[in-house]
Amino acid sequence: MTTDTATTAYAARPIPPTALAGLRATDDAGRPCVPYTATDGGHPLRCCLRLSVPGERIALVSYAPLRRWAAETGAEPGAYDEQGPVFVHAEDCGGPAPSETYPFSRTGALRTLRRYDAAGRIVGGRLLELPEPPAAGFDQALAEAFADPAVALVHVRAVEYGCFHFEVRRP
Ligand SMILES: [Zn+2]
Repeated sequence: MTTDTATTAYAARPIPPTALAGLRATDDAGRPCVPYTATDGGHPLRCCLRLSVPGERIALVSYAPLRRWAAETGAEPGAYDEQGPVFVHAEDCGGPAPSETYPFSRTGALRTLRRYDAAGRIVGGRLLELPEPPAAGFDQALAEAFADPAVALVHVRAVEYGCFHFEVRRP
């Protein structure tokens, strides 16, 4: 994995602890959480924003990031609400360690940055191929997103699988 030493201009938010506590019982699709010990590693963990290592207890749960955000802000995203699979640690992991780059960054990786307004409606998006260093690409794309005063938050997703990686709120 390529990393860089720049400090990021925006904060990548993990799934918050209160949401994690709920997801570790019943996920956002209403299914019971099924933890398992992964024999392989490399699963992107949204609780602590790092890749898993072999032998860790993890779970694949369905998560609705916009719905969770809207519950905090009072927004009503309506049909924009989506849920999808994310890996999390099966037990409390203490959250992310301080990092000088964005999570799951790798030069050449493809990401989408989907922009939402304060009502939870999609107001734009773009494809991002992570440059070297990856943080510079994220910084620039997020600055571009938040240059639009309507943008309240951005969801970063992997292109190939479409899965949610992390959320960035307007600073
Ligand atoms: Zn974790």
